[in-house]
Formats: sequence, C-alpha cells, structure tokens
Amino acid sequence: MERITQRAMAKINLGLDVVRRLANGYHQVKMVMQSVRIYDELRFEKTKEGICLETDHALLPTGGDNLAVKAARLIAKEHPFCGGVKITLKKRIPMAAGMAGGSADAAAVFHGLNSLFSLGMDREEMMRLGVRIGADVPFCIAGGTMLSEGIGEILTPLPAPPRAFLVIAKPAVDVSTAYVYGNLHVETLQDHPDIEAVIEGIRSGSLEKMCVRMENILEHVTAEKYPIIKEIKTIFNKCGASVSLMSGSGPSVFALFAQREWAEAAYGTLKESGLAPSLFLTEFADTGCESAPRRRQWRNGDERG
Ligand code: ATP
Repeated sequence: MERITQRAMAKINLGLDVVRRLANGYHQVKMVMQSVRIYDELRFEKTKEGICLETDHALLPTGGDNLAVKAARLIAKEHPFCGGVKITLKKRIPMAAGMAGGSADAAAVFHGLNSLFSLGMDREEMMRLGVRIGADVPFCIAGGTMLSEGIGEILTPLPAPPRAFLVIAKPAVDVSTAYVYGNLHVETLQDHPDIEAVIEGIRSGSLEKMCVRMENILEHVTAEKYPIIKEIKTIFNKCGASVSLMSGSGPSVFALFAQREWAEAAYGTLKESGLAPSLFLTEFADTGCESAPRRRQWRNGDERG
C-alpha cells in the first residue's frame, strides 16, 4: 500500500465541568465527549524521506507547530519506519472553535501511519502516545461517546446517545482555550453541571432526559465575552431545540433536535440571521477516525448553500 486517506472527526461536549484547578496549572475536568460527522481528510503517501505537510487552509502552520506533524514526528521516533511521508490535509473542521480539530488531525496521523507502514500499534499504545501531543488526542483516536476525566486523558466508554439531528454554528470569532480557562475562577462557582445526570440521561435512551441536564461550565466565560453565543442559543431554542449548548471552550454552539425537519428549519433561520458563517447540519459519529471508502458514501456535515 502506497497511500491511504483517513477522516478525522470533530467532537462536541454533551456536558462539560471543570472540577478544580490543579497545582501545576492544569484543570481537572469531567466531560462527556461525542464525535460528530464533520471531518478533515488526511491523505498519507509514502515518499523517499522526511515528513511534510500540505494543506488547503492558508492560516494553518505546516511545520512542527501543526499537531499532525508533531504526531508524525513522535511516531517516527517511537517506531522508526523506512522512507518518509507526505500528508495532505483538507481542513473542514472550524479552527479555534472548541471542536478539537487539531487533536482530531493528530489522531488520524496515528491511524494513518500505523496502517501505511504496518507499525503494529494497538489502540492503547496510540492513545498512550497521543496524550503527549494533547489531552484530547486519546479521545479522538478512539471516538464515539466517552466520559473524560483527569486533564481529559482518563476515558470511560459510554453507550451511544439517543438519536438526534444536530446543527452546529461557529460565529466569526476565534476563542483561545487558554484565555477561557485562565478566566474561569472555578473556586468561586457554586453550581457545577451534573455530569452524572447527563450520563444517566444517555443510558435512559431518552433525548429529553439527556438534554435537560446538559451544561457547559465554560459558557460563563466565553458567552460573557462574546454575547453572539447567547444570540445563537436563543435562535436555536426558538426553533424547538431539545438543547442548545456551547462546545468546549467555544465559540461553536450546537443544538440537538428530535426531528430532522426542525433541524433543517433551524439551519435555515440561522443562515438568514448571518450570525454564523460556518454552519453544519450533521449527526453523531460512533468513531473518531475512519478510512475513506473508495466511493464517497457519507456526507461531510452538510454545509448548505
Ligand atoms: P479544542 O477543542 O481542543 O480546544 P479548538 O477547536 O479550540 O480545539 P483547534 O482548531 O484544534 O482548536 O486548534 C487551535 C490552534 O491550534 C490553531 O490556532 C492552530 O494554529 C493550531 N493547530 C495546530 N495544528 C492544527 C491542526 N492540524 N488543525 C487545526 N489547528 C491546528
């Protein structure tokens, strides 16, 4: 095999709590991670030597600052392979959006190089190495639905959530994760999201039961600084969303709908509002990464019009 293409799925959080700030500056989190069917595509081709990356996104670094390159270099160090690799990245996941796009790309590099060079890493080894690139990388390697604890690296698989139709909106603001965590004064917050209740909701199979408990503690910081987040949530709620929530540190806002027609109508309303230049109609994914089939049979989100 000389080349292979992987799809790297974005994630949202069905619930996000920050338990406390640790002495080392990291934050202890408790969150429900969920893969969604919006993906970047990474093509891996064998070359004579070296690791190089090309991308269609003008603002993305292509050197050692790119998480995909970082992951490839780490793998080459741990599992030296013959020759080199060229990675071509088609960026589709909005950047600095709270959707773990960079971590997803790094995860796809683990799967891609493992297959291309028959490196024999099992999933546990990939996840153990992946956390050295970023706390969300182990989740992106596995994907699906998981409880994530510690600094994000302690993962417990959960059942798939009840079926829902998703609309995800990213307004035209870029949010720095460091800013959001830096301005969250967790010790002063009385109320925390009840993540156990979200998990109970998932296990019950009832969309309404799950949605009623979904919260993201980081909204306190991001929505305060960017009121557009609240405006988008208001529109989603008026359109009949079962829940509308910010993902990760934002600014992406997603909404879950019980009926496809309601999701489509909300998509149209939000499009007309002009509040979110990146807008997707999509669904949950049960994997973090998959190899692209020869014939295209899956939609990539549904960025219409
Ligand atoms: P998270 O949800 O994990 O906080 P995010 O969605 O907020 O992630 P990303 O899009 O993953 O943020 O990345 C943000 C920054 O990381 C960008 O400013 C970008 O320069 C850098 N970066 C490095 N590699 C990548 C990559 N492959 N894709 C996207 N961003 C990358």
